[in-house]
Amino acid sequence: MTPTALSDLIGPVIRDLARRSGHDLNRWLDQVERLGGCREPMRLTGHTETLDTQTGQIVSTYDTSAEPHGHLLLRCGNRRASRCPACAEVYRRDTFHLIRAGLLGGDKGVPSTVSAHPRVLATLTAPSFGPVHRGPGKDGKTVVCHPRRTGPSCRHWHKAGDPRIGQAIDPGTYDYTGHVLWNAHAGDLWRRFTIYLRRHLANTAGLSRTTFDATTRVSFAKVAEYQARGLVHFHAVIRLDGRSSTGLVTPPPWATAELLGDAIRSAALAVSLDVPGLDKPLRWGRQIDVSVITASGAITERAVAGYVAKYATKSAETSGTLDRPVRAHDIARLKAQGVPDHTAQLIRTAWRLGNHIAHPEYAHLRLREWAHMLGFRGHFSTKSRRYSTTLTRLRQARTDFRIRITRDPATTLVLGSWTYAGQGLTPGEAALAAELKGTGTAHGK
Ligand SMILES: [Zn+2]
Ligand SMILES: [Zn+2]
Repeated sequence: MTPTALSDLIGPVIRDLARRSGHDLNRWLDQVERLGGCREPMRLTGHTETLDTQTGQIVSTYDTSAEPHGHLLLRCGNRRASRCPACAEVYRRDTFHLIRAGLLGGDKGVPSTVSAHPRVLATLTAPSFGPVHRGPGKDGKTVVCHPRRTGPSCRHWHKAGDPRIGQAIDPGTYDYTGHVLWNAHAGDLWRRFTIYLRRHLANTAGLSRTTFDATTRVSFAKVAEYQARGLVHFHAVIRLDGRSSTGLVTPPPWATAELLGDAIRSAALAVSLDVPGLDKPLRWGRQIDVSVITASGAITERAVAGYVAKYATKSAETSGTLDRPVRAHDIARLKAQGVPDHTAQLIRTAWRLGNHIAHPEYAHLRLREWAHMLGFRGHFSTKSRRYSTTLTRLRQARTDFRIRITRDPATTLVLGSWTYAGQGLTPGEAALAAELKGTGTAHGK
C-alpha cells in the first residue's frame, strides 16, 4: 500500500460525502472502484425500466438520482496512454485479444482453422522527404548518422534518447510540404494498396478477378505508428481466407504465405497517388517488410498480437507534438510549449496548407484540424470485417457486465434514457481512485 497523507484523502472525501454521497458510501466506493483507475470518466444521468415481455409489467427500475452525486460513472474509453493510462491498458488488451483471435481462431467467432491460413506481418513505411538524424538500428547498436561529402551531412553516433533523432539534418532543404501531404494521404495510399493487393494476388495465381473474388478473401488488421521523424507507417496482419457462403474456409491451394508476401511487395510498389501542388506522385517507401507468422520462432502469433496492441495505444507523441488540436495562438508558441523544431515546422506547414482561401485544393484534408497529428487524419487501428471480433463487441460485452443485467434477456426488455452530464471525477472520487490504484484493488477487467 502506498502511504498517502491521510489529510489528502480525508479532506476531499469528507467534503464529497457531506455534500451528496453520505447515504450510500458502499455504492460510491463501488462506482469509483469499477472505473479501474480511469482519470476522466463519463458522468451520465438517466433511468431504465426493465419490462417482462410476456406480461408487459415493469419488473425493475433504475434511476441515477439514487446514485452518489446523481450520476452513473462510466470509463472514458480513451485509447491513448497519454490521456488515460487505465483505459489505454484496457484498449491494449482488447486489441491483443482481437489480433490473437484473428491469428489463432477458436475464439470470438473465428474458427481455429485460420491458424493454417497464410498469415504475414507487413510493415509499409513512408518514403524520405530529406535526410534526418539516425538513431540506433533495430538491434540497438548505434550507427554513424549520415556522413556525406556534399549536401546535408552528420557524422555523429546518436545514442537512444538523443533529441536530434528524427529531426531534419538540413531544415532548409527538407520537403515539409511533401511530408505533411504524405501523412494526410496515408489512408488513401492504404486503401489503394488493399485494392492492388487483391489484383496482384489474382494475377500471380493466374485467376480472373471474378474467380479470385468468388474463392478468396483478404483479411487484415492494421495499426498506424509514428516514427521519430513524424511520418506514420503501418503494421498490418494480413491473412488469406477461402470464401464461402458459410463463412471462413480454408483458402485455395495456390494461396501460400510466400505468394502473399510477393503480392504485398509488388502491390505496395505499384501504388501512386497524384496530389495537386506536388511534382511527384505520393508513394510508399521502398522499404517493405513482410514476415511470415508461425506458431514458433521469432514471429509468433503471440509476439505479433503484443506488437500490434502496443502501437494501438500510442499516437503522435513520439514526435513531441501537442496532445490536442492546434489553435491559432499556439502557432507562435510551439517552441515555448516544448515542441521540437522539426515537429513545429511540420505543424506550421499543416497550418499554412490548411488555409482554405490560399489552398482550396487541400480544403477536404482539413489540415488545421489535424495539424497536431502532422497531417494524418486516418484511424489508428482498423481491420476488415472478417478479420475477427470487433472492439465494439468486446466493449459491449464489458458494458453489459458492468450494468449487470441479471435478468434473462429472452424474456425481458430494458428501456432507458441517458443524458451526458459531464466528464471527470469529483475531488473526493479522485482521492479515492488514487488510493484504490495504490492498493492494487482496482480491476480493469
Ligand atoms: Zn479513462
Ligand atoms: Zn545526426
